[in-house]
Amino acid sequence: MPVAVVTGATGQDGSYLCEALVGLGWTVHAITREADASALPLPPEVIHHRGDLLDTDGIAATLRAAEPDAVFNLAGISSVAESWRRPELTARVSGSAVAGILDAALDLQDALGHRVAVLQASSAEIFGEPAAAPQNEDTPVRPVSPYGAAKAFAQDLVRIYRDRGLAASSVILFNHESPRRPMSFVTRKITAGVAAIAAGRASTLALGSLDARRDWGWAPDYVDAMIRVATAPAPSDYVVATGVAHTVRDFAEAAFRAAGIADWESRIVVDEAFIRPADPHELRGDASKLRRDLGWAPTVDFEGLVTRMVEADLEALGAA
Ligand code: NAP
Repeated sequence: MPVAVVTGATGQDGSYLCEALVGLGWTVHAITREADASALPLPPEVIHHRGDLLDTDGIAATLRAAEPDAVFNLAGISSVAESWRRPELTARVSGSAVAGILDAALDLQDALGHRVAVLQASSAEIFGEPAAAPQNEDTPVRPVSPYGAAKAFAQDLVRIYRDRGLAASSVILFNHESPRRPMSFVTRKITAGVAAIAAGRASTLALGSLDARRDWGWAPDYVDAMIRVATAPAPSDYVVATGVAHTVRDFAEAAFRAAGIADWESRIVVDEAFIRPADPHELRGDASKLRRDLGWAPTVDFEGLVTRMVEADLEALGAA
């Protein structure tokens, strides 16, 4: 059976990806910064390696030891806000470290004599403030944050190494959510806050701009897309998105509905501290290429993903 190396395995996507690959019978090697494998929320079949993306030689050595058919690079600084706090680290971890992975994979492919695919987790943030929606693989790349710039640089490197014979692909991921999303993201903040209100542990939920719009999908669907792209006969870059955008207000309303709370508007406090300048640019993806080439389609819609997140947060509070 095929062998995978997954970076970022402790994250939302990495944990779902490890589970999915193990379920498909792959041998999975996970690289994490955590030394204690027993502390990781990963299936017991996963072979653990301690590693930091900034240690290029160490990552290359792990790839040589694992002899993978595919490397899934999901590690990185994953929030725009964090990238503004730590721009130089973002450039190194989410940008230049990808050069080390691609170079090591190409060397390994030459040494092993079989294909070593590389799947890079890129982001819709490479488009910055696009003039039109939806965005696809041909939309001009013009990032407006250190996060977007690092992802754009990495995506360029993927194309450059693909042209040198490596089966390297980028998935241009639009927002995707799950109960494993950290609390620092607005979706999880809403579902955890609504669950707390439903459980009688809070009375209100503080939010910023209710009119901000996003294209939100279900994380395991995006992991399915990653596997399809990494195992496709021909490497290429693909947008992964639902194509439907909703506001934060829509998300909050759906979350309160899932928790059975009718008077939801009175529970929301708009906190000026979280207000961002109005953004007229809509990040909404067109995944037609992925649907056409690889038969991908989302299996969970907006209402379904909000409901699943609320139910998981209620269960965590013992209030399900
Ligand atoms: P996440 O939950 O924040 O996970 C990020 C992972 O990167 C964590 O496992 C983290 O490990 C690891 N990491 C950070 N710095 C590292 C380093 N120096 N060396 C090794 N590992 C390091 O992110 P996610 O939501 O699963 O996203 C996965 C990937 O998709 C990311 O690259 C993200 O930028 C991209 N993406 C995600 C979305 C989305 O909506 N979720 C959208 C577009 C793109 P620790 O546990 O050690 O911190």
